[in-house]
Amino acid sequence: MKLTNDYAQLDPQLCRATQPFMVSDPKLLLWNEQLAGQLHIQSLETAKRAEYFSGQINLPGSQPVACAYAGHQFGHFNPQLGDGRAHLLGEVHTDDGTFELQLKGSGQTPFSRNGDGLCSLAPALREYLMSEAMYHLGVPTSRCLAVVSTGDKVLREKLLPGAIVTRVASSHIRVGTFEYFAARGQNGVVKKLADFVIARHYPELKNSRNQYLDLLQAVIQKQITLINHWLRVGFIHGVMNTDNTLLSGETIDYGPCAMLGVYHPATVFSSIDRQGRYAFGQQARIMQWNMARLAECLLPLINADEKVALQQAEDMIKAIPEQQSTDFVAMMNRKLGFNRPVFERPWIDNFLKRLQTKQLDYTSVFIALTENAKKSTDDDALKDQLGDYYGQWRQQLPTADLQSVQSTMKKHNPLVIPRNHEVEQVLSAAVENNDLHPFKMFLQVLQSPYQTTKNTQRFQQPAPEYDAGYQTFC
Ligand code: AMP
Ligand code: MG
Ligand code: MG
Repeated sequence: MKLTNDYAQLDPQLCRATQPFMVSDPKLLLWNEQLAGQLHIQSLETAKRAEYFSGQINLPGSQPVACAYAGHQFGHFNPQLGDGRAHLLGEVHTDDGTFELQLKGSGQTPFSRNGDGLCSLAPALREYLMSEAMYHLGVPTSRCLAVVSTGDKVLREKLLPGAIVTRVASSHIRVGTFEYFAARGQNGVVKKLADFVIARHYPELKNSRNQYLDLLQAVIQKQITLINHWLRVGFIHGVMNTDNTLLSGETIDYGPCAMLGVYHPATVFSSIDRQGRYAFGQQARIMQWNMARLAECLLPLINADEKVALQQAEDMIKAIPEQQSTDFVAMMNRKLGFNRPVFERPWIDNFLKRLQTKQLDYTSVFIALTENAKKSTDDDALKDQLGDYYGQWRQQLPTADLQSVQSTMKKHNPLVIPRNHEVEQVLSAAVENNDLHPFKMFLQVLQSPYQTTKNTQRFQQPAPEYDAGYQTFC
């Protein structure tokens, strides 16, 4: 196993060479065996994993760097963000594609500004748990290979145990990476980045006539797919800034994320999102806003004639809501058991409105519908909750083919999601009591979210008090 440094070598302005901090006592707490297999890194000495994945020794071939990026945070442009507490180690090339390894919480970098470059244990474990859950839910996402405790303390509201998480993504190129160079008028670097993104993520565009306009469309399509997955499983990202939007279309930055319990589009848990900019039901609109920011960066590449470029990009951005809605309707129909759009947008909106007014748990409703799909009798409780929508749904079911309806529903409606109160419970057991057993049991259940396993039922209950007062932090 030997890492490459393709991204770092693409242009000297993209990154700064910088070594991770030394830590007191690195201990491997979590190791993702399945992902390690996919990356073909089993050959690494087991005894040295804690040192490798805390940056104490460099992996073969690796030259750690911190990457430059900018970003719109809550709508405001910050020209200088960058990896303030992360080190990109390099790439692993496999038959399944290229993967970047990145340490997070591994110390200060030239981009740290006032930050300490560190990460405490709970957020590191949280990122591991949430990203694994999302991966197994079938949502495009970055993943975690390892969590190493450092033996050092991190000062937050109090002193907390420190940790380093190894993040794996097909790349870490963000909308904010393009913004960094576009804002500085460095269109040569923007072009290099765009070509790199095409080669790594969209190779089918290599010979297209208007490559960069097509790139924008391809990224938009990936984002539409991503957001509709989030809406399918009830994921609230919490901080959809442009620096947290990857060109690859994978979910990244699990800081303040949370899951939807009771259906309500205005649901927000992030402590800093006071206006609800990133509320559950805002996510498609914000994705469009973020894609407009990407489009602005690509304009000089799209057409030498500014006006033409602007018109073409604008048309593409304006088309997003309808495309997203079409895919959303198809997705919701699958949740309801139909592989073709039986129910149209207005019906779906009204159905969701019903969940909202009746304060129904999003995940549980679809589990109940799935169970009911094959029964010949009505489920009175469900009928009561859903009103007319229940009968209208039942009426559309093809009596001759209920088996396939149910199997469609089972594929698109999870039996278990990482519910906020359960996540907090396993994290507090791990951090306060040094007990990783509940975490590992929950993780195991989350690895089969569409199948009933021994412990599935324990984690299916909605939060008491509807997650009232629940807050997440960056
Ligand atoms: P986020 O809100 O997680 O998307 O991070 C926004 C920016 O803050 C990024 O540039 C991070 O690298 C930086 N950042 C977050 N936490 C720290 C920290 N503890 N030390 C240094 N930089 C940080
Ligand atoms: Mg971030
Ligand atoms: Mg973050």
